[in-house]
Amino acid sequence: MQKMAAPTSMVPVIAVDEDKCVNCHMCIAVCPVKYCIDGSGEKVTINADLCIGCGSCVKACTQKARVIIDDAAPFLEALGRGEKIVAVAAPAIASSFPGEYRRFMGWLKAQGVSAVFDVSFGAELTVKSYLHHVERTAPPLVIAQPCPAIVAYIEVYKPELLPYLAPADSPMLHTIKMIKQYYPEFKNHKVLIVSPCAAKKREFSDTGSGDYNVTIRSFKAILESRKVDLSRQPEADFDNHPAERAVLFSTPGGLLRTAERDAPGIRASARKIEGPELVYPYLDSLPEALKRSANPLLVDCLNCEYGCNAGPGTLNQDASPDIMERHVERRALEGRKRYAGKAMSDKAARKAVKKVVARFWEPGLYGRTYRDRSANLRLRTPDDTQMGTIYRDMLKVDARDHLNCAACGYKSCQGMAIAIHNSLNKAENCHLYRQRLIEKEQVVVDDSSTRLHAEIQRALSDVGTIAGELETLRVRASSQFNAIEESAAAVEAMIATLASASTMAAGKRTQVSSLARSAAAGQTDMHITMEAIRKAAAGVSGVGAMIGVIQDVADKTNLLAMNAAIQAARAGTAGKGFAVVAGEIRLLAEATGSQVANIGSSLKTIVEQISSSDDMTLKTENGMQTISKDVGVMADEMSALIDSLTEISGGGAQVTAGIGQLRTTSQEVREIYSTISGEITGILALIRTIASISNETQRTIASMVRT
Ligand code: SF4
Ligand code: SF4
Ligand code: SF4
Repeated sequence: MQKMAAPTSMVPVIAVDEDKCVNCHMCIAVCPVKYCIDGSGEKVTINADLCIGCGSCVKACTQKARVIIDDAAPFLEALGRGEKIVAVAAPAIASSFPGEYRRFMGWLKAQGVSAVFDVSFGAELTVKSYLHHVERTAPPLVIAQPCPAIVAYIEVYKPELLPYLAPADSPMLHTIKMIKQYYPEFKNHKVLIVSPCAAKKREFSDTGSGDYNVTIRSFKAILESRKVDLSRQPEADFDNHPAERAVLFSTPGGLLRTAERDAPGIRASARKIEGPELVYPYLDSLPEALKRSANPLLVDCLNCEYGCNAGPGTLNQDASPDIMERHVERRALEGRKRYAGKAMSDKAARKAVKKVVARFWEPGLYGRTYRDRSANLRLRTPDDTQMGTIYRDMLKVDARDHLNCAACGYKSCQGMAIAIHNSLNKAENCHLYRQRLIEKEQVVVDDSSTRLHAEIQRALSDVGTIAGELETLRVRASSQFNAIEESAAAVEAMIATLASASTMAAGKRTQVSSLARSAAAGQTDMHITMEAIRKAAAGVSGVGAMIGVIQDVADKTNLLAMNAAIQAARAGTAGKGFAVVAGEIRLLAEATGSQVANIGSSLKTIVEQISSSDDMTLKTENGMQTISKDVGVMADEMSALIDSLTEISGGGAQVTAGIGQLRTTSQEVREIYSTISGEITGILALIRTIASISNETQRTIASMVRT
């Protein structure tokens, strides 16, 4: 049984920018070890003692909330205070600064870096160390360890593989140790690593070698912030011997291609594997393979899918591997030409590089030991009862609820349940749990929606009824308005007629007064006439008396005439003339008598007539008196009537004003009706729209409930 080691802390190499983290748990999904991330809160946190520093989350986090903790700031500070520093550059600089990596080294030196070493030569030393280990100990399995993420994984999660980790440093540490051992002028210099990797920093703390792990990504940012144009920088070369082909070490399979030079056929007993999706499950399976002796001799493994050239600290994560590796291959070719000569003979190359490597290699110098950090993983495994409780809390009721969909970031429901059991996650982050909650809410929403729909339909019906009643009201109001209009017109016409009658009556007031006056005058005149007639009758009576006198005279004359004629006849001829005169006088007296008789008769008639006229006149006077009196009464009544008419006519103005007000009010009512009608129409349209949305919502909810 594996002895449990004490917990050991590991240097944090990845941080979470809480301001950017949206708690999407993509990082958990890509993290090969999962339980280093606490997803139970509002933001994720990292347990550095479980994080292997693979950088997968840095690449996967679309929010850029995952950042590599490197030593850019301390390095720049150290440079600023004149600290002596040498740099060890990873092969990835060639692909990260294509065509300009020598100028980048020139810039480093211009900043005060004393020398730049090529880690590829350290890879040559590493191959030598590996082969030495194989030759010396004939191990059943050697796991290459250039990758600190893989080292950390085995230390924490697969300690049973620790005996098979190559007991030799990574190429980087080979280079650092070589500098300290073989370049005494730099022995006391601090070492800067121009690094493609977040986890490299851990090698420093684990081995005590190396000081500043600054990623190529950070250098790119520094150059940009300082507006450094690399094309204007002087070129500089590495200060150590070049590699032959070990520059390939940074690419997948590069170790084998290099080792093949010195141990032909080694590929046949080797496994090349990279990428977090593959390499960690592979390592998990390795103990079993080992147990069955089915393992390869050499496992050439890297965490990053395209090797260190596309490590999380490079600028190549999205680059084409073909383009990226072309720069590496070109450098490998240059190295081979340098060692193998024009003939490109492997034998010559091997011989030449062996000679150089021998100068910088010695047994024990590059040995590496590892620590069992499995105690860091204090993961409690829930028993069946606890598991059942957790699943119930996750609203999983039967096996069908174990979707193993990986939406929580773990590969299985069991993985999530373990995380929950260890307070590293919560049920709310399970896809199914959320779905169940949504379903519950859907039921509530469905119910609410149904009730809402019913209410809307009722409102629609009510508003429809109101609209119908409003229409009836409109028709009634319209006829009322028309009636008012007609009545107003009739009243106005009547008032106009009254006004006209009043005016006319006022005009007749003078005539009525004049008539009364005329009647009174007629009565007076009639009285005067009566008096005159009475006087005339009296006169006629006088004439009658005179006529009697005249008759007497005429009778006496006639008598005289007859006496005269008798005297004249007695006188004979002498009385003849007298007789004639007497005749004449008798004739005259007779005529007068006749005339007087006639006159008397006439006077009698006149008197009778006057008498009769007097009666008539009296009657007439009486009639005139009555007429005058009646006309006076009539004039008074007429005057009163005119006064009433005038008063009525005056009242007509008030009625007209009232009608005007009635019209205004009526118009206002019409406008209010129009507004209400418009609003009701709008409300109706709105409720219809709401009803249609409600229908749509109901259909959607129904389809959601179905799915
Ligand atoms: S991937 Fe991880 S760090 Fe990035 S936002 Fe999502 S939860 Fe946060
Ligand atoms: S660096 Fe790797 S191990 Fe660490 S949290 Fe990110 S994905 Fe997980
Ligand atoms: S069902 Fe839930 S717990 Fe299971 S894998 Fe999917 S999200 Fe994770």
